[in-house]
Amino acid sequence: MTDSSDLPGVVERFLRYVRIDTQSDADSKTTPSTEKQKDLSRLLADELRALGLADAEMDEHGYVYATLPSTLTAGEASASPTVALVAHVDTAPGEPGGPVVPVIHRGYDGSVIALPGKPTVTLDPARSPALLDHIGHDLISSDGTTLLGSDDKAGVAVIMQLAEDLLADVALPRPPIRICFTVDEEIGRGVDKLDLERLGADVAYTIDGSGTGTLSFETFNAAEAVIEVTGVNVHPGYAKDVMANAVTTLAGILSRLPGSEAPETTAGREGYWCPMEFEGTISTAKAKMILRDFTWDGLTRRKRVVESLVDAARLEHPRTKIELTITDQYKNMRTYIEEKDLRAVSFALEAAKEMGIEIEVELVRGGTDGSRMSEMGLPTPNVFNGGHDYHSRFEWNTVQNLELSLKYVKRLVRYWAAHGRDPVS
Ligand SMILES: [Zn+2]
Repeated sequence: MTDSSDLPGVVERFLRYVRIDTQSDADSKTTPSTEKQKDLSRLLADELRALGLADAEMDEHGYVYATLPSTLTAGEASASPTVALVAHVDTAPGEPGGPVVPVIHRGYDGSVIALPGKPTVTLDPARSPALLDHIGHDLISSDGTTLLGSDDKAGVAVIMQLAEDLLADVALPRPPIRICFTVDEEIGRGVDKLDLERLGADVAYTIDGSGTGTLSFETFNAAEAVIEVTGVNVHPGYAKDVMANAVTTLAGILSRLPGSEAPETTAGREGYWCPMEFEGTISTAKAKMILRDFTWDGLTRRKRVVESLVDAARLEHPRTKIELTITDQYKNMRTYIEEKDLRAVSFALEAAKEMGIEIEVELVRGGTDGSRMSEMGLPTPNVFNGGHDYHSRFEWNTVQNLELSLKYVKRLVRYWAAHGRDPVS
């Protein structure tokens, strides 16, 4: 079904890598969470060495590190920031992870496509309107029985092909580049065993964003609030003017949170309050909620609102005791990037502009590996790898999107070679 002889290198790599099952497992305590992730990591390290990246190596946790040396003069290279390119080898749990049988649908015409291995799984513009922006593209999906794993084998294939292409093109200026493949990103542990010192980069990009032309470098600011209420429990038959009900007191506080600012009613730049847990009896009740906002002032306001609701409840229910604890969880990664080197973002925008790509800045309504890396001191925006509908069996990418992502990342490293040594304004 798939004749790959005429396909570009990045696509040929992608089709090979997705066939290797690398699904991670949140229930496992080991790193990597599944040993099979090393099957791909080992292959990537071998292929990098075969290309000529002599120091390419997989560590005991399944992370791969390699250096693509600069083509600048020695003096220029030592003055240039080192750029790391990062992708994760694992695929998401939740849907079957393999064996993946990739299928190419040439010259997409905008219709509904039933996938051959399970015809009830379809690529349908009604559910995925982005398909209509890809008419004429050569779509790539699974056969419908598994995930495709474009998240993030697209990023892996882009980085591998970039290494091959740049090595063959010594005339093209490039800064010192570090390549890194991580494990267990999908279960939130991608950074746990990442050795930033070994990575030795000044700026990094994860090639893990969906769509094309997307760039993300902003996450929520996050805090958690815990409210604990102590009531007075007596027999309900003799309770008048004595009982103080912790459950109703706490429920009253939560019911006053504005329903229009909840996860299910907000999008984009809007923040929210979200009660996550509630347990209680008449004598004690406890609730946990999370507060999210893209601005620090906004998060502060959300904390004040919770405090004032608690204060009002104290007046209304003087026989209960109410305790409130608010803890900060994480900060918008933009804050860390701004503190360290905002060029991580501005160069990504400039490189896109040079190519005539319209960048759409995507806000991440949660944490990412890049946000943790940024917090640890390595500014790490996320750039696009062309894929869509991640974590589902109707996940897809296209031959043309993979090529565009590769072209963009090449332009981005070239931009660092040209401007990375400029004085920072
Ligand atoms: Zn991913």
